[in-house]
Amino acid sequence: MRTQVGIVGAGPAGLLLSHLLARSGVDSVVLEARSRTYVERRVRAGVLEHPTVELLREVGLADRLDREGMRHEGISLRFDGGDHRIDFADLVGRGITVYGQQEVVKDLIAARLDDGGDIRFEVSEVTIDGLADSPVIGFTGADGRREELHCDVVAGCDGFHGISRGAFVPEVFDRQYPFAWLGILAKAAPTHHELVYANHPNGFALYSMRGPEITRLYLQVPPDTDAGTWSDTQIWDELGSRLAAEGFTLNEGPVIEKGVTGMRSFVAEPMRHGRLFLAGDAAHIVPPTGAKGMNLAIADVHVLAEALVPFLRHGDESGIDAYSDTCLRRVWRAEHFSWWMTSMLHVAPDDDPIARRLQLSQLRYTVASRAAATSLAENYVGLPHGVSP
Ligand SMILES: Cc1cc2nc3c(=O)[nH]c(=O)nc-3n(C[C@H](O)[C@H](O)[C@H](O)COP(=O)(O)OP(=O)(O)OC[C@H]3O[C@@H](n4cnc5c(N)ncnc54)[C@H](O)[C@@H]3O)c2cc1C
Repeated sequence: MRTQVGIVGAGPAGLLLSHLLARSGVDSVVLEARSRTYVERRVRAGVLEHPTVELLREVGLADRLDREGMRHEGISLRFDGGDHRIDFADLVGRGITVYGQQEVVKDLIAARLDDGGDIRFEVSEVTIDGLADSPVIGFTGADGRREELHCDVVAGCDGFHGISRGAFVPEVFDRQYPFAWLGILAKAAPTHHELVYANHPNGFALYSMRGPEITRLYLQVPPDTDAGTWSDTQIWDELGSRLAAEGFTLNEGPVIEKGVTGMRSFVAEPMRHGRLFLAGDAAHIVPPTGAKGMNLAIADVHVLAEALVPFLRHGDESGIDAYSDTCLRRVWRAEHFSWWMTSMLHVAPDDDPIARRLQLSQLRYTVASRAAATSLAENYVGLPHGVSP
């Protein structure tokens, strides 16, 4: 088999890259370890930055997103018994859209397959060789046959646990946090029209939604927590305490999914090795407090598609040479913002009284100062794609 771009992984990064390349007449094959059903049902992120939505619209992928996505013009910060709205529309004139990652993935798969795109699900034993000049991806297809995919370049879009990053030895920056998120998906109509981030002495809580009848809620828990040890009643009680505010009553309902997600800041540098380009979670992980993971994956492949097209058409290497540095600037900005939100909102396990007072001071300043609130808003709605500060 031969294609121009061999893409490992059918998450948001791999699928969108395939779509962007196809629009410029570049062929690709996407190889995915899981089944189509599995990837379309995997509940993960749900906040789309403004530049993400603009890109999806520009490339014809936003029909359902525009119909079903929920546009938000702010978030609430709750602490010390008070509720404070950060008004994105007023501060930066832009907002975010709440639309589940699995919906983005469904739209991308449907668009690629409608277009005659080649996505191979349920592949296994993926290997990558020949990265200096003539890459070959080996894989076993769903039918059990061993295949070789020869390509001009490989895009490693296979997430944090994929195999692409292991094809070379990048420098790795890794920090794990002493807490995790217990996340639930509940059949309950949203109580509030925007996301609520709560800093409470018992720990952080986040209120969000995925649709008119589904809420997504999170509690800070110790990192080794087994989700099964929390009963639904305990979860609702704790959410009720941490999110409490005047006039706010949490709508409860059946819990349809429950899981614990660890928190880490991770970056692999550089994001390119010969003809291999890493994108998305394969190269970096952010703690989810800043809602940046999926948005970063999308920003990476936007830069990558724009770099690969001139390279594959007429050998222009300027874009591919700049790819890693361009992406890493945005990645580190998002790493900083996500770390900052995480540090401001979570309670350290040692309950250090100085740390607690510093947090509260930062929160009070963020909601009282227009300059500080604008900085949060600008980062949250997303800086424009391209070269970041
Ligand atoms: C459990 C979890 C919960 C999350 N929750 C949130 C959240 O609440 N909010 C938030 O903002 N962000 C969240 N994130 C982050 C966000 O979902 C990711 O940043 C986003 O999925 C990155 O997209 P991606 O395409 O780079 O990687 P992925 O979405 O991980 O896609 C990678 C794909 O590669 C496939 N793959 C892996 N190995 C191979 C292989 N060897 N061969 C072929 N295919 C392979 C995988 O099956 C997967 O489909 C969460 C992430 C995880 C893991």
